[in-house]
Amino acid sequence: MLKRISNFFGKSQRQQNVGDRLVIPSGQHSLSPKMISRDARKVVDVLQENGYEAYVVGGSVRDLLLGLKPKDFDVATNAKPAEIKPLFRRSRIIGRRFQIVHVQFSRELIEVTTFRSNETKGQDKKGGGNRRQQTDSGMLTRDNVFGSISDDASRRDLTINALYYNPGDNSIHDFADGLEDIDNRTIRIMGDPATRFREDPVRLLRVVRFAAKLGFTIERSTEKPMRKLAGDLDHVSPPRLFDESLKLFMSGQGLATFWLLHEYGLFDHIVPQLSSLMKERNSLNSNLIEQAFTNTDLRIRSNKRVTPAFIYAALLWPSVQHLAKQYQGQGNSPAYALNKAAGEVIARQVSITAIPRRFTMPMREIWDLQLLLPRRGGQRAKRLSEHPRFRAAYDFVLLREQAGEELSGLGDWWTAYQEASEDKQQEMANIQNDGGKKRRRRKPRNAKPKVQ
Ligand code: ATP
Ligand code: MG
Repeated sequence: MLKRISNFFGKSQRQQNVGDRLVIPSGQHSLSPKMISRDARKVVDVLQENGYEAYVVGGSVRDLLLGLKPKDFDVATNAKPAEIKPLFRRSRIIGRRFQIVHVQFSRELIEVTTFRSNETKGQDKKGGGNRRQQTDSGMLTRDNVFGSISDDASRRDLTINALYYNPGDNSIHDFADGLEDIDNRTIRIMGDPATRFREDPVRLLRVVRFAAKLGFTIERSTEKPMRKLAGDLDHVSPPRLFDESLKLFMSGQGLATFWLLHEYGLFDHIVPQLSSLMKERNSLNSNLIEQAFTNTDLRIRSNKRVTPAFIYAALLWPSVQHLAKQYQGQGNSPAYALNKAAGEVIARQVSITAIPRRFTMPMREIWDLQLLLPRRGGQRAKRLSEHPRFRAAYDFVLLREQAGEELSGLGDWWTAYQEASEDKQQEMANIQNDGGKKRRRRKPRNAKPKVQ
C-alpha cells in the first residue's frame, strides 16, 4: 500500500495540482470507497446529492492509507450545522468550542463538521468578531469561524490528519503534503509550530501520541519548541486533560508514549507528583511505571479489559507511598497514613486531570488492599479473595514484584491460593501466622475512664 504512494511520489507527472491542493485521482492510491463504513458513505452521499461538498477526513483516511483499522469516520462539509441537521433524521447539533453535527446510525455515530477557518484577519485578538477567541498566551477558547476546505485543512493539527477523501469519485485531496509525510513516516504540525502549540497545547500531546502509535518520527521544526511550551499544558482544562491522558495511556503503545512524553517534559505537566520521584531510569519507581504500561499494552493487544483506575493507581503509587511513609514517621498507623496520603495525592492529581470518582474510588481500594493482602491468616484470606477489587489488587501486587519490590513471595502465595481447592485454601490460610486468628481485645464493659 505504501509502495503505491511511494511510486506516486517518484513520478511527479501523475500529480495534479488543482489550485490549492494536490488531487490524487482514483487508481493512483490504495483507497477505495468500500473501505469507508456504510454510514459514513451515506452521510457523504446525502450531502453531495444536496449540492454540498463532503469528504471523509482526518484519522480514518490516515489509518486506511497505513493499512490500519480506523476507529471512526469523520465527515467534513461546506454545509453549515443548521443545513446538515434537517438532512438526517437522527441528528443533533452539539458542542460549545466547535459546533458539530452528530448523525446517529444503528451501528455508529458519524461526526459531521463544517469547514472551519483559523483566520484572525479582520478581528481583534480577543475575538472582536465574537466567534474566535484567544487568551493572551495565544490559546483559542472559541473557534467557530466557517471557511473553505483549504482553511479547514490549515487549522487541522498534523499534515497526516489533513487529508480529504471523496468516496464519490475515489480521490484524495492533499493540502499540506500529508501523503508525503505518511510515506516518510513523519509527524509534522500544520503551520508555524509554536503558534499552533500555543493556540491549543493539547496538540503537544497529539504529536507525541501519533508518533508513538504509528512509530513515526517527529520532524525537527515541529519538535523544536515542544519542550519550551510544555508548561502551556497547565492551562488546559482538567476534564480535557483527563480525556487526553487516557488516549495517551490506553493507545496500546502506552510505554513508548510515556517515554516520549517524558523526553519532551510533557509528563511533568500530566502527573507532576510522579516526576520528582522518578529521576532515574531503572529505579524501583520507574520500573513500576514502565511495567504498568508494558502490562497495559499487552492487555490491550490481547483484547483484555483495562481500566484507567489501575493505570492511575500505578502512576500515583510512588507518591502515595512516599507521603504515607512521612505520616507513619509522625507516629500514625500504616492504615491511617495510607488513607491520608491517598486522599491528598488524589486531590492534587484531580486538579490537573479530572479523574472521575468512579475511578478514584477503586484506586483507593487497590491501595488499601496492598496493606491488607499480606495479612491473610484464618478467615481473612477468603474474605479478601471475595473483595470486589481483589483481582485488581492482586494484579497490583504482581506488578510491584515485577518492578523489583521484595514482598516475600506474596504474589506467588495468592496465585497458589486462587488455584487451590477449598480445603487446601483453608489449610494455606491456617498456617499463616499473622495474627489472623487473634481476636481484638475488648475493653471491659464497666471500665472506668482513667482520671489523671
Ligand atoms: P484517532 O485515531 O485517535 O481518532 P484522529 O486523527 O481521528 O485520531 P480525532 O481526535 O478523532 O483524531 O480528531 C479528528 C481530526 O480532527 C484529526 O484528524 C485532526 O484533523 C482534527 N483535530 C483533532 N484535534 C485537533 C486539535 N487539537 N487541533 C487541530 N486539529 C485537531
Ligand atoms: Mg478520530
